[in-house]
This record gives sequence, C-alpha cells and structure tokens, in this order.
Amino acid sequence: MSTVVSGVSPAVLRARLDRARSAAARAGVNALLIAPGSDLRYLLGGTGTSFERLTCLVLPASDEPPVLVVPKLEAPGYAAVPFDEVSVEMATWVDGEDPYAVVAGRLGSPGSVALGDVMPALHVLALRDALPGVAQSLAGPVLRELRMRKDATEVDALRRAGAAIDRVHARMGEFLRVGRTEAEVGADIAAAIVEEGHVSAAFVIVGSGPNGASPHHSLSDRVISVGDVVVIDIGGPEAEGYNSDSTRTYSIGTPRDSDVVDTYAVLQSAQRAAVDAVRPGISGEDIDAAARSVISDAGFGEYFIHRTGHGIGLDVHEDPYIVRGNDLPVEPGMAFSIEPGIYLPGRWGARIEDIVVVTEDGVESLNNQPHELVVLPG
Ligand code: ZN
Ligand code: ZN
Ligand code: ZN
Repeated sequence: MSTVVSGVSPAVLRARLDRARSAAARAGVNALLIAPGSDLRYLLGGTGTSFERLTCLVLPASDEPPVLVVPKLEAPGYAAVPFDEVSVEMATWVDGEDPYAVVAGRLGSPGSVALGDVMPALHVLALRDALPGVAQSLAGPVLRELRMRKDATEVDALRRAGAAIDRVHARMGEFLRVGRTEAEVGADIAAAIVEEGHVSAAFVIVGSGPNGASPHHSLSDRVISVGDVVVIDIGGPEAEGYNSDSTRTYSIGTPRDSDVVDTYAVLQSAQRAAVDAVRPGISGEDIDAAARSVISDAGFGEYFIHRTGHGIGLDVHEDPYIVRGNDLPVEPGMAFSIEPGIYLPGRWGARIEDIVVVTEDGVESLNNQPHELVVLPG
C-alpha cells in the first residue's frame, strides 16, 4: 500500500469535515462513507490505496465522532494524519474480522448513507448487507459542493501545477523531433513533467498526424515526420495532489495539410471566446456555448466532439463540467479547463487547453504558454 499525506493544516481539515457533515445533513443523509481516494485525501489530508480490505471514513451528519475504519496492517500509513486535532477516531480491524459490522456498529440505525463515488462495488454490496434497509446514495453530489469551491491554498497549488506544466510545454522542442516515435517523445515528456515540479505524470498524450484526431489517443509507435500536426496534452499532480492539465498543438515545420492554418485560427478564437466569457454567475453550458458557437459558425461543429471543459483539483476530471445541460453558475474559486478541439478523422486534429480559475470579477488563466500553433523545426 502507498499512502499520501498532504500538508493541509488541521484547522482546514476540521472545517472541511464540519462542512461535509452539514452538507450531508442538508442532503438528508445520516452519514458519509468514504473509501480511499481523493475524497478521503480532501477530508483527512491523507489517503491510501487499499482495495479488497475495507478502509472507510464514517462521517456522521450528526455530531457523533467520525471514525476511520482501517485494516490494522495499513494503519501506519495514516500516521501523519492529525487524528486528535481533527477529532477523528481510528478503529482498526484484522483479517478474519468483519469490517462492515464495525461500520454498522458505529452508525446505530441510520435511515440512509451516502457512499463515495469510487468505493469498490464489493464494499458497496457488503455494506448493503451489513445495513439492511438503509438507503444508499452517492456522496459525490454532497462533496462536490465543497471540493469545487477551492480556497486560496488550493488555487495556489493549482497555480504551481499550471506553471510547472507550462515549463514542460516550453521545452517541447527538446522532445518532439522528426524521426522519433510518439512513445519516445512521451517518455521524455513524462520525465520532464516530474523534473519541472510534479510528483508524477498522470497522463501524456502525443497525437501526431491522424492520431491527433482522436482526443484521448495516448502514445503509439508512429514516427514523427515533417509536416505533422501534433496534439500534446499533459498533466500530473503537484506535491499537494492538485493536478495540471494543458494542451498545445504543434507543427513540425510547415503543416502538410493546407487547411491547418485557417482551421487552427477558428479554434484559437473559440478558446479565447470561452475564456473571455468566464466570470462569476455564468453557467458551464454558456461557457461551452461560447466556444462551440465560434466553431459551429465556421462550419466545424461536427468535428468538436467533446465538452469544452472539466473541473480540476485533486482529480483531473471533477465538477464543475463545462458542458451543455450544466446550468450551475460558476463562482470565485472554481477551477476548470477550457479545451475546445477540432478533429478531422483520418487527417489531423488540434486542441488548446488552459486551466482557468474564476476570480471575484472575472477569470485567471493558470496556463500561460502562447496559444498559437507552435511551429518546431522540421
Ligand atoms: Zn480529456
Ligand atoms: Zn488535457
Ligand atoms: Zn482536460
């Protein structure tokens, strides 16, 4: 098991736990049950990676003390969590005991519990058996109310991650060269992501030529050649767990296809229009429409095949989503990507992605590399 512990102060963690309790009460659930993952890291300042052995934070909506139910052999991984200062108990169990009964025993007789969105199904179903008749729902809608509103410390962490990934993009000429495969370029980028200040590379997309038309292409043995357009989408977590995610599109010498320059100009104005639209009160779907209308008006609507963006924080993809159907008004402290793309199947693709954060009166971009098509020597 590997455990990560954040440097979040006990006072901040205590406030998060209190807010989570009140949000649970407002949502009408009696307790949140949270397995390892970014929700646990957010609430407790640390998390492990236990899978088949139950680790679960039991957080009652009432003022009963929260308890972390954890296998005894994994408890040392949580040693840096300030349990006393945040008033969370620890209840360990050993192989052969029934951890679900421990959870049920802590809960008394609740009417309903909300389970973390990424709790493994084997725990979900075992908890259903241990708590017969108790309604289960998802904790995601409760916790997103907290997690999507970043405090200044969280925005600082996202800002550091953004600056670090900008430095990797600034070095792209070192890696992206004629005659190398996407996989070779990707390995160098992954190393640079760590060198420039991330804990790890969470993802590296090098989509060259026709591969660029597949938004979630990762890496292949395709060899980079002169005239290729290359989509590079990269990111990873900084020390506190907050992620970067930024895309730039590169050209190796003059683009082979004659429609690249004009089409790219459309994409660039779409991305600009969406960033410029961001201010407190505008909805995710209106930000999406700001980018989409520019692309549709230019005749490329059918080639922009995904939402304009996603929230980002301890997860690379989290609320709020910048997508049609999301009428939630954005607020200061919300951070998300603005990443329209145009994908021409079998030919080439392009995407421009910045992480932005909503400020009191507008928007701050956390990625600041130029948005132009970056022409590298061919
Ligand atoms: Zn994506
Ligand atoms: Zn991305
Ligand atoms: Zn993204």
